[in-house]
Amino acid sequence: MPKDSALTEVHSFAAGQWIAPGAGARTIASAITGMPICTAGNDALDTDAMLDWARASGGPALRTMTFHDRARMVKALALFLREHRQILYDLSFDTGATQKDHLIDIDGGIGTMLVFASKARREMPDGHVYIDGATEQLSRSGQFMGQHIAVPLRGVAVQINAFNFPVWGMLEKLAPALLAGVPSIVKPATATCYVTEACVRLILQSGLLPDGALQLVTGGLGNMLDHLDCQDVVSFTGSADTALKLRANPHLMAQSTRFMAEQDSLNASVMGHDAIPGTPEFDLFVKEVSREMTVKAGQKCTAVRRILVPRALEDAVISALSERLQKTTIGDPRLDDVRMGALVSAAQKRDVLEKAACIASEAERVTGDPEAFTIIGETVQNGAFLPPMLFHCSDPDAARHVHDTEAFGPVATVMGYTDTDHAIRLLNRGRGSLVASVITGDTEVARDIALGAAAFHGRLYFNNRTSMAESTGHGAPLPHMIHGGPGRAGGGEELGGVRGVLHYMQRTALQGSPDILTGITGRWTPGAQEITKEAHPFTRPFGDLAIGETLNAGPRTVTVEDIETFAHFTGDTFYAHMDEEAAAANPFFPGRVAHGYLLLSFAAGMFVQPDPGPVLANTGLDNLRFKAPVVPGDAISVRLTVRAKTPRNTEYGEVRWHVTLTNQEAAIVAEYELLTMNAF
Ligand code: NAP
Repeated sequence: MPKDSALTEVHSFAAGQWIAPGAGARTIASAITGMPICTAGNDALDTDAMLDWARASGGPALRTMTFHDRARMVKALALFLREHRQILYDLSFDTGATQKDHLIDIDGGIGTMLVFASKARREMPDGHVYIDGATEQLSRSGQFMGQHIAVPLRGVAVQINAFNFPVWGMLEKLAPALLAGVPSIVKPATATCYVTEACVRLILQSGLLPDGALQLVTGGLGNMLDHLDCQDVVSFTGSADTALKLRANPHLMAQSTRFMAEQDSLNASVMGHDAIPGTPEFDLFVKEVSREMTVKAGQKCTAVRRILVPRALEDAVISALSERLQKTTIGDPRLDDVRMGALVSAAQKRDVLEKAACIASEAERVTGDPEAFTIIGETVQNGAFLPPMLFHCSDPDAARHVHDTEAFGPVATVMGYTDTDHAIRLLNRGRGSLVASVITGDTEVARDIALGAAAFHGRLYFNNRTSMAESTGHGAPLPHMIHGGPGRAGGGEELGGVRGVLHYMQRTALQGSPDILTGITGRWTPGAQEITKEAHPFTRPFGDLAIGETLNAGPRTVTVEDIETFAHFTGDTFYAHMDEEAAAANPFFPGRVAHGYLLLSFAAGMFVQPDPGPVLANTGLDNLRFKAPVVPGDAISVRLTVRAKTPRNTEYGEVRWHVTLTNQEAAIVAEYELLTMNAF
């Protein structure tokens, strides 16, 4: 293609080089003016060199870092992007997005990185092996144990993203891949790749990532998928048609390459029977639905497409929604008084109109005439604008398109239901969605819908007057909660905190002796070697404490006087501690027994070293179990072992101690994990 010097060249970043558009480049037009603004794509990208760079440089460099090192890197990257986000805002207007839309895409992407970084620091170890679940005792004496772990895949994450979130779409996948320790090759949708390119330039400019950790393909992906293997991941976001084409790639199937798909879906919002006009729930429903239809001009994978309301309320909802939607100001997204910008391209507008025509074959358009609406802004009259279009389908049981034709724009259909079962049937007609919302205060309806519909929806969002002030919105995928859905929605799952990181890791079941498991995981497994030192562990700073370091203390004999003193001091005069006859009648106890909390207190009394020192605070107990009763005359001993250490900041870290209390016969009477904050 001859070069047009007026057009910006959107580069790819391949094997350490910025590559300008070349053979096969495509021209991209502004969504708001319709004028060409840039070119992108180069068929000559060296796929093998890109994959080699990621696998030979990016992966090894990331894997030498611990989860906490990578979390600090992701956090620093997010803060750097936040500082420079104006560059991204400025470019994004040409995608048709308003400043409010930028907050979802750009600030939302940065916020997602920050949440991931923080969760990784709190929930993952400062090491190289993620421990997944409890240790399983696989033998009688505990010398053969099982433990699930997860380690980073040794390949590359190829992330193919949709046009509607050029920044969030990349960052919500990049953050978990980086945390897992896997390099990424990002391929944004061509229509908005100039924003993603600017974001990648910022990331590389920050100097925070190791070489090979991030590459970018603008334009076509070439034959990259044919070069992936079992250590690679394809993470796709886009339409169901493209997902089907890509996941059917015979090479990917032969290699069992992981393929995650986030597709389109016909998300629904259900108005509960209690949300009658005049209630906060009615107003909330109208507000949420109209917002979901107009934010990003309806180009959101989670946007509401189907509006399910009690039959008796159809007219009231249509009239309230229409009134609100008609107030939507449409036009130049750079103007403060514009609420809804343009669709991403003229082609996208055509596609939406075609899909709307399908819907119109079985539903009546009640609001929004695409031939007659006002576009604000002199220079944007040729942009890809549409008004919000509301349809009403009077026979949703017989209809098909309203349940399975996605018009990826400001389009939704109201349909009436007779009772909760009918609402559930209609809800599930989408054959799998990302999110369904239900506006109700009725907990029985909520439970019926959860049981009847949760299997078809990745997320169920309930809202009512109690939660509305703090709720996050039907359409907002949160980094804490999974995003994805069954069936039509792609069958994938992203986000969800550490769950999202695990998509880029291999879960492996380890079996072996307690010492072997301790050696691999870096967390002491009961039964493994104990290390004893002369100095009391409470006198040793965080950095000096060894995993497995153990203190044995006791015994201490428990007397009836101890039990009575504790009972009267605390007020806990429960019969099992005070009344021999009543206690003996209880199937768990031979007679009067010591309070569990008395035993915990005696344990502390035995293992504590009282002087000021590195132990700053006791922050809690986990997994406490009382395993056998302690009766007056029993002598208890305690064993305290360093199980795991997690730095919190540069001054202190959390020590997780494994504690067992045993009686004079060496039977375990209590077991738990004690948490302390210890100075470095
Ligand atoms: P799309 O046309 O399916 O394209 C998605 C991505 O696939 C783009 O990067 C596209 O690149 C790429 N692609 C297309 N053909 C390819 C091929 N043969 N090989 C490799 N890559 C290929 O979807 P879109 O129009 O960008 O996005 C809109 C759709 O995405 C909507 O249906 C929406 O519901 C869905 N979506 C879903 C989610 C979710 O989280 N579930 C989020 C956002 C959007 P090019 O642009 O270069 O063709």
